[in-house]
Amino acid sequence: MRREFLFKGKWLFENSNIPYSSSGAECGLRIKKKLFSGKSLYQQIEVYDTIKFGRILTLDKIFQTSEEDEFIYHEMICHLPIFYFLNENKKLPEKVLIIGGGDGGALEEVLKHRIKKVWMLEIDKMVSDVSVKYLPSISRGAFKDKRANVLFEDGKSFIEKNNNFFDIIILDLSDPGGPAKDLISEKFYRNVKKALTKKGIISVQSGSLDCQIDLVALIFKRLKNVFPFVKIHHAPIPLYGLGEFSLTIAANFNLPKKIREAIVKKSYTSLKPTLRYWSPEIHNASGILPPYLVKRVAI
Ligand code: SAM
Repeated sequence: MRREFLFKGKWLFENSNIPYSSSGAECGLRIKKKLFSGKSLYQQIEVYDTIKFGRILTLDKIFQTSEEDEFIYHEMICHLPIFYFLNENKKLPEKVLIIGGGDGGALEEVLKHRIKKVWMLEIDKMVSDVSVKYLPSISRGAFKDKRANVLFEDGKSFIEKNNNFFDIIILDLSDPGGPAKDLISEKFYRNVKKALTKKGIISVQSGSLDCQIDLVALIFKRLKNVFPFVKIHHAPIPLYGLGEFSLTIAANFNLPKKIREAIVKKSYTSLKPTLRYWSPEIHNASGILPPYLVKRVAI
């Protein structure tokens, strides 16, 4: 039965109208089984067991994260801002905010550091409930950490209530459609900046450098209108299909070409056994884009 099922394995294709995606290409994954399907107030939530990526989470048929390669995305979106902050302020951040991040992957990465408190603002509790049940290897118990303060509400309204409070804000959001549609506006980024401390820094899930390059350029431009320093980092995230993916960093302080090993060494050494992608070398190298992309994003 199993052999027969495998050979007849079905293919799952990503939603072809992903916001700002003009690729004319679709990514397909061969699936073993659909494990969950449900509709929340905000989106269609599904979990599939796939041959290549293990279990994956999809929201409105857009691939969000997978057991196989979630570490690349979550290590980069969290450790880039934290190590820039450490490099600049010679100390770890104390208060970190994650907006989105329902699968718990970013929360787990941030909590690897000796950080006092992490807030996570996820609009859709069902995403977290489903992720903990079907994709526990992504959050690895992070939701139970006593430093985690997980709130299920709209990040857009939450951010307006905060002033000069967070050292780091991580925008680990779905694509700008659905509940995240207003969370790439300049107004939102101004509210994010207002909620940051003076030496604060943010990281943004800013889309694919291949099939969402217009989105990458738009987010970069809007962040540039709000923050003095903005830098695009890139990483290969196989689940997100063609080309590399972008994580955009914006700060009130100058983002150096290289973080200084002497300053980050102690924190890196303690985290190193738990990291599979981020390293000081990757941090520095991933901030360099090839000339064609520098031109395309008008950096
Ligand atoms: N890692 C994924 C990626 O790279 O695209 C995204 C992580 S997570 C699944 C994205 C989360 O953002 C979802 O759980 C979604 O519910 C949440 N989200 C979307 N809009 C939101 C809003 N306005 N406030 C808070 N969370 C929001």
